[in-house]
Amino acid sequence: MAERAVQAPAQNPELSFQEVETAAEITRRLDSYGYATQQIGGGVVGVLENGEGPTVLFRADIDALPVKENTGLPYASTKTGVDAEGNTVPFMHACGHDMHIVAGLGAANLLAENKDAWSGTYIALFQPAEETGGGAQAMVDDGLVNKIPKPDVALGQHVLTVPAAGEVGTTAGPMLSTAASLKITVFGKGSHGSMPHLGVDPVVLAASIVTRLQGIVAREIAPSDFGVVTVGSLQAGSKANIIPDRATLLVNVRAYDTDVREQILAAIERIVNAECEASASPQPAEIEQFESYPLTDNDADVNDKVTAAFVDYFGADRVKQLAPITASEDFSNVPRAFGIPYAYWGFGGFTADQQVFPNHNPGFGPAMQPALRTGTEAAVAGVLAYLGKAE
Ligand SMILES: [Zn+2]
Ligand SMILES: [Zn+2]
Repeated sequence: MAERAVQAPAQNPELSFQEVETAAEITRRLDSYGYATQQIGGGVVGVLENGEGPTVLFRADIDALPVKENTGLPYASTKTGVDAEGNTVPFMHACGHDMHIVAGLGAANLLAENKDAWSGTYIALFQPAEETGGGAQAMVDDGLVNKIPKPDVALGQHVLTVPAAGEVGTTAGPMLSTAASLKITVFGKGSHGSMPHLGVDPVVLAASIVTRLQGIVAREIAPSDFGVVTVGSLQAGSKANIIPDRATLLVNVRAYDTDVREQILAAIERIVNAECEASASPQPAEIEQFESYPLTDNDADVNDKVTAAFVDYFGADRVKQLAPITASEDFSNVPRAFGIPYAYWGFGGFTADQQVFPNHNPGFGPAMQPALRTGTEAAVAGVLAYLGKAE
């Protein structure tokens, strides 16, 4: 049954903020389990009240990516659709959110069928648009805090390449980095390629910025702190003999500390403005932040409680201490909106005899089992750490 269930979202991915059918199917299933469901901000929330006790929220993300699937799996996505820019693109669940959906539904179903094993209120939250960093905030902006009971704690998970399938991994403190993407437009003065003295060359200006940005992490951030500055795109001009009038850079920033992140962002702005000045750029640079992700910073007490429950259920050899991961997540915007603590953990996607492809790769195809079973059990074990009745 689990195998059939995971094939449905795997074969029917939907892009960020387009998860209409996915949300409808999740709603139908939660309804059938007996949950009180609402669609909020493009996501779905199911509430199951079961007597006295704490309120626990468990979150799963549900969106796919514009990546053409190359897993060779019998249930591979063959879907195409229209992305935010209006282009027709193939897409797939290249980050395993299909597995998150099914594990979240499996946990919801198990808790509904075993109400004598626990007491309190369980909230199953299915969030859209994790991949753009806007989905959790969209639910908050649509009134999430006022539409559901206030949880005491929030939990979440992700299928990862490490640890191995069948294992879970936790860590206290920073688990995932904060991230920000910047679109930086710098301006020159167009001219004939043979007459550079009559123009201001934004290509040279942008090249200086790219080089100078490399000094931020190397020379301004303490060696003990973590930071990444990557220029992922640099575009200017159209022809060899034309000096264009602008250049656009797309820059990605990561850090495990909000102060470090702000320090990096301020340094980028300072360098861009100084290089524009140095080049006699005719107008100020435009710096626009997009796809911003908060820091995922696990509460030590919640992490301890969940980790102890995992050790109890899975055995110590299947519970790993994870190192912080440079990827990012918007999950924490949900607990942040309620002002509650949270923990987020990983579960393994790949077995030892399987070729490992990283998240977002066209070949990302976690082993359905034992990964799905482990993800489902981890969700239930984490929730029961708070709601379970003592035996
Ligand atoms: Zn992803
Ligand atoms: Zn993901």
